[in-house]
Amino acid sequence: MIQFTNVVKQYSNGIKAVDNVSLRIEQGEFVYLVGPSGSGKSTLMKLIYREEKANSGKITVGKYILQDMKEKDVPYLRRYVGVVFQDFKLLPKLNVYENVAYALEVTGKSKKDIKKRVNDVLALVDLRHKIHQYPSELSGGEMQRVAIARAMANRPSILIADEPTGNLDPETANDIFRVLEDINLTGTTIIMGTHNDTLVNRYKHRVVRINDGKIIRDDYKGAYNERD
Ligand code: ADP
Ligand code: ADP
Repeated sequence: MIQFTNVVKQYSNGIKAVDNVSLRIEQGEFVYLVGPSGSGKSTLMKLIYREEKANSGKITVGKYILQDMKEKDVPYLRRYVGVVFQDFKLLPKLNVYENVAYALEVTGKSKKDIKKRVNDVLALVDLRHKIHQYPSELSGGEMQRVAIARAMANRPSILIADEPTGNLDPETANDIFRVLEDINLTGTTIIMGTHNDTLVNRYKHRVVRINDGKIIRDDYKGAYNERD
């Protein structure tokens, strides 16, 4: 359902961030992307939601063939693929409800449907009680849960999380991994870039290790580091 075939992404400064990557991810998988800073994890994820375009190779995401995709179709891809970031990227002037509803308003849903979906998705991340708060009034873990709710609002098939726990303390990071596990159990594919070896080893899933833009290990048994 996600297929990379010989994908290359070279930035205009000459850096090859993704170097001839082939990778297949099935619907419902949970995949960790690990590797040192600057190894190409974010770029690989950006290619999936078409924040960046590949220079060569083929990328298929669900029914979308990205190298043939027209700009006008990108918003549909963005409903199929939800994204969360290390720095949450919430809109500071909107409250929790509005931050999540915003993702739905552009899709032309009725007010009633939006209200129902916002409430459901905030219940999923256990934050209905904070619905009227503003981002500045929330903890880091709560902000990330709002960001996850927003990313899930349009019922994406795929949720991409680029170091979602990078700014969080260990206990809060553990809570976020558990929220993502719950979402995965409902059938959503999860692709997560992370440096959190402790939690990768605790919540075992497929581990894809990247170095210098290349996949150097792909381990379905799931351990952060190579075992002896
Ligand atoms: P990671 O997520 O593993 O830290 P990135 O995908 O962010 O890796 O970066 C991979 C390489 O591409 C790094 O050398 C980085 O400096 C470079 N890079 C990332 N984004 C850009 C960009 N927009 N322009 C030029 N080089 C970039
Ligand atoms: P991350 O590791 O989470 O990708 P970075 O700090 O590497 O975050 O990148 C932050 C932003 O700067 C990203 O949008 C990335 O594309 C861009 N960027 C990263 N490295 C470079 C670079 N060498 N030249 C230009 N832009 C870059």
